[in-house]
Amino acid sequence: MVFENAEKQLEKAKKHIKLASETEETLKLPKEALSFAIPVRMDNGTLKLFQGFRVRYNDARGPTKGGIRYHPNVSLDEVKALAFWMTIKCAVIDIPYGGGKGGVIVDPHKLSKAELERLSRGWMRGAARIVGPYRDIPAPDVYTTPQIMAWMMDEYSLIVGEHCPAVITGKPISLGGSLGRGYATALGGFFATKEAVKKIKVGKKIAVQGFGNAGAHMARLLIEDGFTLVGVSDSKGGAYLDSGFDYKKLDEIKQKEGRVDVYPGAKKITNEELLELDVDILILAALENAVTKDNVSKVKAKMLVELANGPITPDADDVLHKNKQFIIPDVLANSGGVCVSYFEWVQNLYGHYWTEDDVNQKLEAKMVKEFNATFDIYKSKNVDMRTAAYVLALGRIDEATKDKMKL
Ligand code: GLU
Repeated sequence: MVFENAEKQLEKAKKHIKLASETEETLKLPKEALSFAIPVRMDNGTLKLFQGFRVRYNDARGPTKGGIRYHPNVSLDEVKALAFWMTIKCAVIDIPYGGGKGGVIVDPHKLSKAELERLSRGWMRGAARIVGPYRDIPAPDVYTTPQIMAWMMDEYSLIVGEHCPAVITGKPISLGGSLGRGYATALGGFFATKEAVKKIKVGKKIAVQGFGNAGAHMARLLIEDGFTLVGVSDSKGGAYLDSGFDYKKLDEIKQKEGRVDVYPGAKKITNEELLELDVDILILAALENAVTKDNVSKVKAKMLVELANGPITPDADDVLHKNKQFIIPDVLANSGGVCVSYFEWVQNLYGHYWTEDDVNQKLEAKMVKEFNATFDIYKSKNVDMRTAAYVLALGRIDEATKDKMKL
């Protein structure tokens, strides 16, 4: 149960910060959790019902914000955890949002493009009563794309009767998307990693678990910066190449074959073996619960970067911290995505658009500042990096909650 992991992380951090009772109370439950059926007319004429969710966890600091996941394993428990993590994440990176998340139980690869459009428009019709540009702003997450955001934005605009780009982020550029949003999660993670290696001396050998949007861009950025990628995997399996993968070739193979383990000359490995590779930095860019108490003792990397949400369980966290293996936690490492989503929303509301360089420079400034703020707490309180990030975030959430509710 991933929500239990989120609760454990919160409890651990609460030992290091005094929160107002109002803050403690409001963090116990999601503000709203909507579960709804999405009827979709399939191409073969039958009607199929899909289950959709939207959770608004906490809005102390602003409208709730967070992606929508399309995956067969989506559950309300998972969406709740992800919405809670968004609350912490938006506070860590200090953007004026609370946290939310959505999902649909579906394997989108099994749908035709037209079915995917009907499902996405159906999701928005189901969630429209709680989303809105000043209430709750969705975005992409696992297996959702700018195209899906476009359909959803259009559906919302049809419902409210006006063009409403600010209701959702991660849109195509033609519809008000921000330059740089497509690779922002990876670029933010890259800036955080560059800051981390200034403080924690490690070598340049890396492995990436998960070659989706975040993982692939992260691999590219690190290779371009002189790191050597020796291990890579996706849901179909992994590959190892001691001399290092060529990014262009790897990307071509992924595009053509839909998998990375067929890279010529590389040794096929499992996802488990990838985690155990003797590398300096392990990038976790797949799903939750990748590193657990069962496999953590085999993880050799000196630094772990959580580009996915929740890839390390709390008990594995404790082991890594004891072994002095440095973690850049998800709520910081992957916050570049939502940070540029915020930039997109600002541009939409302002009706004025920035250059790609502007966006990336603003992102870099944010990542560097909040990485160092987290690192300072990590040092001064002698806690692990996740707890440090939670302490930073909870302090900000507490301040807003008190200003709103305290007698
Ligand atoms: N799904 C991404 C995340 O987990 C991005 C959310 C957003 O841009 O709102 O952070």
